[in-house]
Amino acid sequence: MKQVLPPGMTAAQMDRALAALARVVGSEWVLATDLDRDTYLDHFAVDESAHAAAAAVAPLTVEQVVEVMRVANTHKLPLWPISRGKNFGYGGAAPRLKGSVVLDLSRMKKIEFDTDNGVALVEPGVGFYDLYDYLQQHKLPYWTSVPGNSWGSVLGNALDRGVGYTNYGQHTEKLCGMEVVLPTGELMRTGMGAMKDSPTWNLYRYGFGPSWEQMFVQSNYGVVTKAGVWMMPAPESMVGLDLELDKPDDLGWAVDLVAGLRRDGLLVQSPSIGSWLRGAATLTTRKEWYDKPGALPDDVIGAIRKRFNIGWWSVSLRLYGYESVNEAAAGVIQAQFAKKTTQPMTVSRWKQGQPMSPSPSVAAVAGIPITFPLANAAWHGGRGGHLGYSPVLPPNGVAAMDQFRRTYDRYKEFGMDYHGSFAMGERSIVNVNQVLFNKDDADMMSRVGGFFRALVADATGKRYGEYRTHIDYMDLVASTYDFNNHALRRANEAVKDALDPNGILAPGKSGIWPRRYRNQRA
Ligand code: ADP
Repeated sequence: MKQVLPPGMTAAQMDRALAALARVVGSEWVLATDLDRDTYLDHFAVDESAHAAAAAVAPLTVEQVVEVMRVANTHKLPLWPISRGKNFGYGGAAPRLKGSVVLDLSRMKKIEFDTDNGVALVEPGVGFYDLYDYLQQHKLPYWTSVPGNSWGSVLGNALDRGVGYTNYGQHTEKLCGMEVVLPTGELMRTGMGAMKDSPTWNLYRYGFGPSWEQMFVQSNYGVVTKAGVWMMPAPESMVGLDLELDKPDDLGWAVDLVAGLRRDGLLVQSPSIGSWLRGAATLTTRKEWYDKPGALPDDVIGAIRKRFNIGWWSVSLRLYGYESVNEAAAGVIQAQFAKKTTQPMTVSRWKQGQPMSPSPSVAAVAGIPITFPLANAAWHGGRGGHLGYSPVLPPNGVAAMDQFRRTYDRYKEFGMDYHGSFAMGERSIVNVNQVLFNKDDADMMSRVGGFFRALVADATGKRYGEYRTHIDYMDLVASTYDFNNHALRRANEAVKDALDPNGILAPGKSGIWPRRYRNQRA
């Protein structure tokens, strides 16, 4: 048996806790064989065993979730909630605290749809594919917004501040009205939902008094069992404007230009300006290009760009809505780019009634679920994996270029292949960098930790924080949020202790440790 246990718990205590859980959900939904435990490992982690779960429990109803929380309190059993557990690059299904029991909500798959207002009320197990299929089957005039890996759940992705590519791509901002089981087992609803039978629960975000919704995002304060998600009305037209930028330095002016478009509202989606490896890593493997260790040299980068006919950076903008409005906006955007480059933008047009291009790279901007970007984990060969490093920058070209240069130098120093993108928000940039690796390459794996820490230290030096991180680095990233000697952490942990006196829910998530496990902080 590969049984693992949380700190301070004996095997007999764990057995008793699992038996009590079986009485709630049925013994077939307490998953505690070696194979079950393997299923919940984070196969992308540098050290999978560091986050091994003791078991998993998979309730079907909110009543069962309430009872599971009560059992966890009685037995002082740490639980780690997942919706579908596909948070790859950030931990997958695996818990931060080794020996936790995964609270697997993937069986809870109900969808209720408010067609008039365009709101889906979803349970945690509803995947992007499920919601997409639902819209198609019911011929509903709405689009989903999907992330690059759409294997996961609508709710879990929004709860970790995942993003998509349409005007509704800031997923966490589209949540409206949650049902939550607090760590003590108390069931509550946020916003207008705090009024029984309110018809505006999923329409008006705030309710009366403090707004709690974001308290349950990237936190360990509650298990979300249902949430309203606003959906984008199917647009009359979609216009694409694509541009390949030849030189690394082109990033600077492109960021300034797109930041302006975002600020003045002409562009509503958050486009990502990405480097040449993005396509190559999903469509080819490294050994097709180069068989030596160390970062890829410039001539190889040139060959990759030539084959895929791409720039050092690719800019891909999308406009959604009424055709005449899109055409007018496209004209203004093209004129702005024409002042900076003689290269014309490639324009693509789609209208309601036309077939959607089957090209996978177009699918995500049209809200169609995809998984092919996950193929980038195979770039190096062997058992592939990846890790995300994503600091938040101010939205200007000088900051972006400075960040790019510094990060690119670090990739070269540690012999890794640069894979960066700049996702342009309304008033910020999220600089998403992928660290691709081969878990069968011991030398490469020995470099990953030091590389990641160096990247975080560089960003912290500039006072940039990360927006999201892998379970391995939650304490590290949380520690960089240091104003007034970590006042935020003290506040987070005061709330944690108040809501979760036994410290049973997701100990260590986002660097927030309950009193009971505070000595586990890395
Ligand atoms: P997905 O399968 O959609 O990629 P995950 O299930 O992997 O999402 O969850 C992403 C993150 O959000 C994890 O840190 C997880 O602990 C948290 N999370 C997921 N679902 C819930 C939920 N229903 N309530 C609270 N936290 C959740």
